[in-house]
Amino acid sequence: MPEKKIKAAVPAAQAEEKQKSYNAFEIAKRHFDTAAKFLDLDHNIQQQMRLPERELTVNFPVEMRDGDFKMFTGYRVQHSTARGPAKGGIRYHPDVSLDEVRALASWMTWKCAVVNIPYGGAKGGVICNPKTMNRMELENLTRRYTTEIANIIGPQRDIPAPDVYTDKQIMAWMMDTYTMAKGFSVPGVVTGKPLALGGSEGREEATARGCVYVIKKASQNLNIDLRNAKVAVQGFGNAGSIAARLLHDEYDCRIIAVSDSKGAILNENGLDPHRVIEHKQKTGSVVHFSNSQTIQPDELLTLNCDVLVPAALENSITKELAPKIKAKIIAEAANGPTVPDADDIIIKNGKLILPDILANAGGVTVSYFEWVQNNYGYGWKLDKVNSNLKEIMENSFENVLNISRKYKVNMRCAAYILAIKRVHEAIQYRGIYP
Ligand code: NAD
Repeated sequence: MPEKKIKAAVPAAQAEEKQKSYNAFEIAKRHFDTAAKFLDLDHNIQQQMRLPERELTVNFPVEMRDGDFKMFTGYRVQHSTARGPAKGGIRYHPDVSLDEVRALASWMTWKCAVVNIPYGGAKGGVICNPKTMNRMELENLTRRYTTEIANIIGPQRDIPAPDVYTDKQIMAWMMDTYTMAKGFSVPGVVTGKPLALGGSEGREEATARGCVYVIKKASQNLNIDLRNAKVAVQGFGNAGSIAARLLHDEYDCRIIAVSDSKGAILNENGLDPHRVIEHKQKTGSVVHFSNSQTIQPDELLTLNCDVLVPAALENSITKELAPKIKAKIIAEAANGPTVPDADDIIIKNGKLILPDILANAGGVTVSYFEWVQNNYGYGWKLDKVNSNLKEIMENSFENVLNISRKYKVNMRCAAYILAIKRVHEAIQYRGIYP
């Protein structure tokens, strides 16, 4: 047998170097600490809530198209199971790090608590560049990663879902790998599956739809008419492109600018999101779309618009950009797009930030519906999914707004106060003190 060469896919040193100057987990703990000060929490429980319950790092080989094996590193972090099974997406990206996954896992805990669904929080990720991998390599990677984390996931334990650069096909491979190991079909082990495998109607657009429901509520509160309102969207993937489409189709907004990892485009008269989606499908990017001008990616964030939807990655809105933000509403479809120092500046300038743990909670809410449907072996119609999602998002918006008025804090702090209260209460009832 010829000797197989094993090489690192993304060298560890390079991955560490890519660790962002803003550490997402430090930011997550900072948001927690800011909100926790408003609550009379038991000190030990507070310490317990800040840190993840369980962290798994896996290093595993994957056979590549040339027959060589490459080593990959992946993580699964379960931040909390106080309110129910852990729940959270899987990210494939070269910049994935343990601290990023810890942050994303903790945000899942607070998010599920904000919308009051019976889950804890988790997240997973693999350091890889899916854009350079073919279908076979992605399948091999997904199946091996699933096997490596199989001991800690499961429909009653921890339920993965799609996140950046993972989709329903990746979920299908995860479900199949887990199912093969068990010897019987386990659709409830992941959500965001294809409909043919027990996925839910409405799941693919749920993150964006949930975000749009809270944008609508916010606009009513601020007396902003969404008809012809100018919208800029950073990140044109699942969350961003669908948010653009829904705001355009259902609320008559004018989508003036969108971006992806390759660049940003602008048309003050409005872009047709359907045609931009088609263009991206054909060419791999939004750039060079007809009747649009290319702008600097950061310029998109500071455009004169009514609604800004950051829907890409963490730490996009920095302290330096914050004073230049002109949007009246910033709806965080992405997780952690605004760094804390930027938060303070934007809020001081009278803008409304709809925080990630509220604004993008629609995805996990419909994931929860999918899991319920899988557990019952029964499928809901799209109308039922969307009307239940609407009710949950609108009520959650009202709950967070009421807390922000009661405690005289911004919407992010209010969302954390609500979430921390609910997790704290669950821990107290269960008696799971340190
Ligand atoms: P996706 O992989 O479908 O899309 C990501 C998009 O962001 C792509 O268009 C990519 O080109 C773009 N992008 C990457 N880097 C960028 C950059 N520097 N500038 C501009 N665009 C860039 O991912 P997604 O599922 O839409 O996730 C986007 C964000 O939404 C993430 O923060 C994710 O955690 C969050 N989120 C997603 C879900 C979900 O259900 N998919 C749920 C909640 C939160």
